[in-house]
Amino acid sequence: MGYCIFCQIIKGKIPCYKVYENKDFLGFLDIYPLNPGHILLIPKKHYRWVNQVSDFGKYWEIAGKLSRAIEKVLKADYSCFITLGQEVAHAHIHIIPRYLKDDLGDTIDWSKKKKIDKEKMKEISKNIFQEVSKLRTGEVQDA
Ligand code: 5GP
Ligand code: ZN
Repeated sequence: MGYCIFCQIIKGKIPCYKVYENKDFLGFLDIYPLNPGHILLIPKKHYRWVNQVSDFGKYWEIAGKLSRAIEKVLKADYSCFITLGQEVAHAHIHIIPRYLKDDLGDTIDWSKKKKIDKEKMKEISKNIFQEVSKLRTGEVQDA
């Protein structure tokens, strides 16, 4: 395996706006979100593709929790999951807040990625982190 930017994020060598962490998975904001609150959820162990991740069910369970958290925090109408892996070769699930009238279209227009200022990214990540922590309360520890 060559250089992997997401492995660098896991090691803390590249900063990220963290929204979720347990021993196996890390969630953080996409640096160029399609909508504010666009998350990437990754396994801490390097896998090339999402369907290679061990604990696949747990991976998607956490993705589900994060989707509910972003719907609440970003007041989204709904949210969607996408797995591409064309740009970064470390398994990741995109979790994206959607609005009935957003500019992404029915098939997701990737040219609509946005740049959001640092303070706003920090605030969004903090709010999602808090919201998802509430969803974890009372559940099995590693959820
Ligand atoms: P994909 O591999 O699924 O096509 O897309 C990879 C995603 O990772 C893109 O949406 C891109 O904006 C995001 N991305 C690439 N490099 C970084 C980075 O260093 N930090 C963060 N937070 N996101 C990144
Ligand atoms: Zn990696």
